[in-house]
Amino acid sequence: MAGTAVSGRLTWRAATLAEARWETPSARTLVLDVPDWPGHLPGQHVDVRLTAEDGYRAQRSYSIASAWPSSGAGQVELTIQRLDDGEVSPYLTDDVQVGDQIELRGPVGGWFVWRAKSTSPVTLLAGGSGVVPLMAMIRARADAGTRQPFRLIYSVRTPEDALYADELRRRVRDDAGLDVHFVYTRKVPDGWPAPPKRLDVAAVNTYGWPPDFAPDCYVCGPTTFVETAADILVALGHDPRRIRTERFGGTS
Ligand SMILES: Cc1cc2nc3c(=O)[nH]c(=O)nc-3n(C[C@H](O)[C@H](O)[C@H](O)COP(=O)(O)OP(=O)(O)OC[C@H]3O[C@@H](n4cnc5c(N)ncnc54)[C@H](O)[C@@H]3O)c2cc1C
Repeated sequence: MAGTAVSGRLTWRAATLAEARWETPSARTLVLDVPDWPGHLPGQHVDVRLTAEDGYRAQRSYSIASAWPSSGAGQVELTIQRLDDGEVSPYLTDDVQVGDQIELRGPVGGWFVWRAKSTSPVTLLAGGSGVVPLMAMIRARADAGTRQPFRLIYSVRTPEDALYADELRRRVRDDAGLDVHFVYTRKVPDGWPAPPKRLDVAAVNTYGWPPDFAPDCYVCGPTTFVETAADILVALGHDPRRIRTERFGGTS
């Protein structure tokens, strides 16, 4: 049975784009109907494969944004941030149309996942599109009705770049167990009390859970963001075994 499950995850499936919505002017969520989807855990990703007419293929990984399959059996949501000089992401944000098919396989990954049975508080550190798998965890926590408190620190260049901004605001308003703090690196909103800055020790210390609470920490984003954020957590005294990281690549 285990072998069957593994080979199922490694099978390429033809997913159909059922719906798409813009999260920001440069990021789009794709809602995909996936035949025989085996289900997934929040934090896992899929591999997406595109094949050109001449047979050229390109493959990239994308985190799953949706919570458990119970929120849409057989459907998987991905949120793609367009990189203007990228090969694959501009196609997924700008070109793929409802009804088109793309190949994907998964779910992939067993370490960077959050499980509802965990009893620890959770600190989430996101850089840019690194918020995608962390959003799946926030959604899954709400769906599961569990009480572990979550704190998200979300680093974005400008307020306009924040993914899921309205949903996060709504969830914070309705859920005393969820806190969200933004770090703006290039432009702050009107009335923001500080100039733009990168994630630093003070922000993690103030808006994350202290090490004494033994939180599970999930860090995701571009490679340099992940390395900086993980270093800060370790410097603050967090147990490295409780720090899980996912690197999206790139250097910014
Ligand atoms: C496990 C995993 C999950 C991921 N989940 C998501 C997700 O949910 N949403 C999402 O938008 N992306 C995600 N990514 C990143 C994604 O796989 C691609 O790397 C990204 O879309 C760029 O692909 P591209 O073909 O457009 O650019 P490429 O043609 O591969 O690269 C173009 C340029 O951008 C740089 N670059 C590549 N990736 C990044 C990056 N992440 N940040 C900054 N610069 C970069 C390259 O160095 C290059 O200079 C994930 C990556 C991994 C490994």
